[in-house]
Amino acid sequence: MTKIPKILLIYTGGTIGMVKDFNTGVLKTFNFDKLLMHIPEINLLNCDIDSISFEEPIDSSNMNVSNWVILAEIIEKNYYNFDGFVILHGSDTMSYTASVISFMFENLSKPIIFTGSQLPIGDLRTDAKENLITSIQIASSQEHGQPVVSEVCLYFEYKLYRANRTTKVNAEHFQAFYSPNFPPLGESGVYLKFSKQLLFKPNIGSELLKVRKTLDNNIAILKIFPGITKEVVAAILSIENLKGVIIETYGSGNAPTEKWFVNLLEQAISKGIYIVNVTQCTSGSVILGHYETSEHLKNIGIINGKDITTESALAKLMYLLGENLPQSAFKAIFEKPLRGEMSEEL
Ligand code: ASP
Repeated sequence: MTKIPKILLIYTGGTIGMVKDFNTGVLKTFNFDKLLMHIPEINLLNCDIDSISFEEPIDSSNMNVSNWVILAEIIEKNYYNFDGFVILHGSDTMSYTASVISFMFENLSKPIIFTGSQLPIGDLRTDAKENLITSIQIASSQEHGQPVVSEVCLYFEYKLYRANRTTKVNAEHFQAFYSPNFPPLGESGVYLKFSKQLLFKPNIGSELLKVRKTLDNNIAILKIFPGITKEVVAAILSIENLKGVIIETYGSGNAPTEKWFVNLLEQAISKGIYIVNVTQCTSGSVILGHYETSEHLKNIGIINGKDITTESALAKLMYLLGENLPQSAFKAIFEKPLRGEMSEEL
């Protein structure tokens, strides 16, 4: 007899579980048990579902490093008692949290599926039910006794994505997420279909799960723009204890060639600050040295973020800084895909 999969539902907060305060019209988080009452359909699913909620569910704008560690600890504590995990999270920062969790969990062999919704679950036109029900089905999908998905994913509006490839692109459409540089891992229609050739194979070897909980958030994001001043760049690069900067450049990784700009970056790198080049374009990749306007960045030792999203670059930077890697190895490790977050061949 095949075993019924056991799924743990973790509610962190977000619109999915919010209600409208009728006096003010503002959306606020509310009791998780009430949330489940709105979806009796989940009792029809062929799996056992347990649920756990953040003590104080949050709007995901309040997500931070401590909450990421709390979430990781909940999954870690329950890892061997469940076959899969569904995380209910506000959509605003879901791509950040899901990317961070993908780096925190090494040698994963079970599905961790993030989902949420654009409308609260009690709303007549809600997208929450489909997102939640299908996420649970994905987390409980098995083949020959093995999970079909054994990585961190984000499911939203009929599409399953590799979480660390996603970005929130729309504040009002149900299709709120996009994976600009990697195709969806699955799609839900009349049938639930997976792109098996793209999914990670379950880690069923001897490699034990490792949960990396030291994240270093002494970092900054610097988006360049035409007219950016020396004062702005200098102020950011001189922040006390700064260890890493994600610099959002133009097109395929291009930036001003002005001397003051290059000198400031070079000085920061020589002080041991890691600078990662990601593109501000929605899709495509940094190709250092493709234009003259990125050749200088290559020469001063900037890290090539290739086709990584800003969300994932932030997650990877916090994770790798927390690992205390030797300075000589950091750049090469960052430029390699660790959890499928960037393309191999670039
Ligand atoms: N502000 C909400 C949040 O991110 C939006 C949502 O849940 O979609 O928590």
